[in-house]
Amino acid sequence: MYFIELLGYFSLWTLLIYCTHRLAHSIPALWHFHQAHHAVSYDGKWEFSWWNLIGWFNDWRSTLDQWLTEIIPTILYILLFHDAWPIAVLYYIDSFLSEGITDHNPRIAVPGLAMGRYHLAHHADMTMNFDLYTHFWDWVFGTRHHVV
Ligand SMILES: [Zn+2]
Ligand SMILES: [Zn+2]
Repeated sequence: MYFIELLGYFSLWTLLIYCTHRLAHSIPALWHFHQAHHAVSYDGKWEFSWWNLIGWFNDWRSTLDQWLTEIIPTILYILLFHDAWPIAVLYYIDSFLSEGITDHNPRIAVPGLAMGRYHLAHHADMTMNFDLYTHFWDWVFGTRHHVV
């Protein structure tokens, strides 16, 4: 039963991150930091930065973006729902794989998951594909752009 509970926690957490990502695009103070993420041009090369392991993401703007819209909300979420702690582990692993390996790689397209081409479509059209983990919340809120 814990697995079902965890699935619920995961869905709620992805909703939280979907919302903070949308806020990062609509609140000027947050966009100030998030635009640094959108300023990077991704050419499909595999990249890995050891700095990501300690919560530093290329420059101070991108780092603050990540902390304000993902890391702090995730910490608060786990403090609120202690049983959801495996999500923090998942997030930690994802946080150092997403930048240069999973999310910005045009060779990756996993049905239902928001990585690779799905996320790159958000870079091409910033009104779509806000969900960073699945297609679910984009589908619910009508922001899903179908990517082949
Ligand atoms: Zn964005
Ligand atoms: Zn991105």
